[in-house]
Amino acid sequence: AITIEGMNKWYGAFHVLRDINLTVNRGERIVICGPSGSGKSTLIRCINALEEHQQGKITVDGTLLSSDLKNIDKIRSEVGMCFQHFNLFPHLTILENCTLAPIWVRKTPKKEAEETAMHFLEKVKIPDQANKYPGQLSGGQQQRVAIARSLCMRPRIMLFDEPTSALDPEMIKEVLDTMIELAEEGMTMLCVTHEMGFARQVANRVIFMDQGQIVEQNEPEEFFNNPKSERTQLFLSQIL
Ligand code: ATP
Ligand code: MG
Repeated sequence: AITIEGMNKWYGAFHVLRDINLTVNRGERIVICGPSGSGKSTLIRCINALEEHQQGKITVDGTLLSSDLKNIDKIRSEVGMCFQHFNLFPHLTILENCTLAPIWVRKTPKKEAEETAMHFLEKVKIPDQANKYPGQLSGGQQQRVAIARSLCMRPRIMLFDEPTSALDPEMIKEVLDTMIELAEEGMTMLCVTHEMGFARQVANRVIFMDQGQIVEQNEPEEFFNNPKSERTQLFLSQIL
């Protein structure tokens, strides 16, 4: 589980996250939406310490996230992350991309790391691409490799930051299907996305952020059909 209490973050004088309180329980699937610049990516990045926060507490599975490097390693090993741009290593094959961290960070024997990688490449339905390079794959395939690569580290929580927003429409579905499958297997997920169909189908809670604050959160049915705040109503009227 993730617990965030009274968290505030500034970029210089700019107050980017304001009094964030959020608990993500095991097995929950939470979708975060909100206008551009509302702080969604910053929040996600604070959770695995890609960004520092200045006030408040973030705890991941009981481990307090502090500037202590040891805790950061532990948290990052439990939290997988998948971005808009897949950040695959272009000079490594798909298989090598998936085995790099398990071999060098987890000290997993190469053969075992390769077996695990093939298992997850099968899961995202591209085992036949294992020996190609990222540049030889479509965007949707590359994003599925990025998801498989994260899963190879056996995370207990997956964070997604607009994983489909750089993809052509016909590739969005294949990535969403992968995420839906993960959700159905019980993975704890926190997803920034504007794919509201995905939110309705998969999320147990939808969070709306605006100007660095959590403005509203609710189960999807209620969130979409009966948004409480005017800001949420305005946002939904623009994207639905
Ligand atoms: P989008 O939907 O466009 O991805 P977002 O909700 O993810 O937006 P963030 O990327 O979290 O928004 O940015 C929140 C605010 O913080 C924005 O006003 C942005 O300009 C600012 N910001 C982001 N990163 C930095 C940085 N490294 N230094 C200073 N300001 C930043
Ligand atoms: Mg963002």
